Amino acid sequence: MTGRRKMRFLVVGAGMSGILAAIRLREAGHEDVTMLEKADRLGGTWRENRYPGLTCDVPAHAYTYSFAPNAEWSRFFAGADEIRAYFERVARDRDVMPLIRFNREVTDLSFRQGGWIATTATGERFSADAVILASGVLHHPKAPDIKGLDSFAGKAMHSARWEDEVALDGQRIGVIGCGSTGVQLVCALADRAARLVHFQRSPQWIMPVIDLAYTDEEREAFRRDPALIDAIRYDSEYLGNVQRFTMGIVDPDSDAMHAIEDLCRQNLEQTVADPVLREKLRPSYRAACKRLVYSPDYYERVQRPAVHVETGAIERVVPEGVRMRDGTLHELDVLALATGFHADRFIRPATVHGRNGVALDDIWAKRATAYLAITLPDFPNLFFLNGPTAPVGNFSLIDVAERQWQFVERLIGEISNGSCDEICVSAEAMAAYEARRIAAAKGTIFASGCSSWYLDREGVPMTWPWSYQAFAEAMASPVMEDMERRNSKRVAV
Ligand code: NAP
Repeated sequence: MTGRRKMRFLVVGAGMSGILAAIRLREAGHEDVTMLEKADRLGGTWRENRYPGLTCDVPAHAYTYSFAPNAEWSRFFAGADEIRAYFERVARDRDVMPLIRFNREVTDLSFRQGGWIATTATGERFSADAVILASGVLHHPKAPDIKGLDSFAGKAMHSARWEDEVALDGQRIGVIGCGSTGVQLVCALADRAARLVHFQRSPQWIMPVIDLAYTDEEREAFRRDPALIDAIRYDSEYLGNVQRFTMGIVDPDSDAMHAIEDLCRQNLEQTVADPVLREKLRPSYRAACKRLVYSPDYYERVQRPAVHVETGAIERVVPEGVRMRDGTLHELDVLALATGFHADRFIRPATVHGRNGVALDDIWAKRATAYLAITLPDFPNLFFLNGPTAPVGNFSLIDVAERQWQFVERLIGEISNGSCDEICVSAEAMAAYEARRIAAAKGTIFASGCSSWYLDREGVPMTWPWSYQAFAEAMASPVMEDMERRNSKRVAV
């Protein structure tokens, strides 16, 4: 660190992105790193979600830090428990644990006198020169706006607030919601419930995938020869699909997108035998308009005798179960609310104030956004990982965070090498970028006519609207002319 300025860092959130930031900061020689975590365990989304059937639909060897390959994955698509255990192990092995202050929910972040001050719900204050906001996207559960929910006599719970002790075997279970979560829940419960009703306001297109368990011999081979892991992670077919999918998102009329639609349509036509059920399950919008659902067995599971697909309109929840508008009553013991998240909240409800007291809530009154999903004008030295507009296709958020880190590291380098005290995107560059992003986002498949958590309140997708290649290049080579650098008289805070 000789010749470099010593910097103090706060990392908000000890999930996948926060752990990454802490590891990278320490590797770069920054010693003063504090992580503030609202809960009593790390793991982010993998701590909060524990519903039956939860897996990651990105291949496990690709949903792994590039610097911490894991020979022990049990399956091609790993389950939540082992993913959580993986992050805990990496955090332990890389000495991240001592940096984490658990049970410290940030309630305010304010930029004062050239530095950031974080206040936590415990009333403590932490100060830093720079903040990494890694507080996650899908962590504010959205309860459905269905009348009578509180009157239910059985157990109703959101998928992200699952209670392990609730009995499921032999019960009458309703699952509301047909996103990735609802589909995984239904697959896991189809053989356990006495009756399972899947309430679908809008059926989803399902991309078929094959999930295989790795054998002991394969794991032994991975341990002996990490090149075998790389062969899966960097498999040309997988990476080709990643590239093609982002090309398809950007150009809804491309061959790539038509190929995705064909695969989903064939999956429905060829797997669902009953024509009535098939039509119930057929979406009325284009495949990949909503975040695509990947499942090896959803269509097979919903054809089990105990499963009923309900596509009618829900009238209200009553003590006995769910009453439909046509008068049908589905009597239930358990109601699983797989109804998604408030995806535009990010760090909020915490308040964040930048230079001259400018409030993030005001900046984001219309939509949550950031330049290249990383920096905002007037919020110097504050960097998002997996923040607003970050999702790139449906792919590994670890890959997204690692690439974003290249960008963040470059900006931090400007401060630590003494070029400036404060750095963030300039207001002009932000305005030009946002106009370009919105125009591009409106042309993507996500804006082709459906509802989804990708859309902001004006219907503009909150995602990366260009190709994967463009993302990789933008992260690797920050346009420094777009940045505003200032020197400030430092005052201890
Ligand atoms: P979601 O995709 O937002 O789906 C919410 C579902 O609830 C939709 O089907 C929605 O119907 C339905 N819904 C909401 N309010 C309703 C109401 N009042 N009445 C009836 N239905 C209602 O949420 P999610 O499934 O939790 O998934 C969110 C994201 O989490 C995914 O897209 C994915 O990015 C991530 N995820 C990933 C994995 C993985 O394997 N990697 C697993 C789970 C989740 P409408 O479509 O009609 O609005």
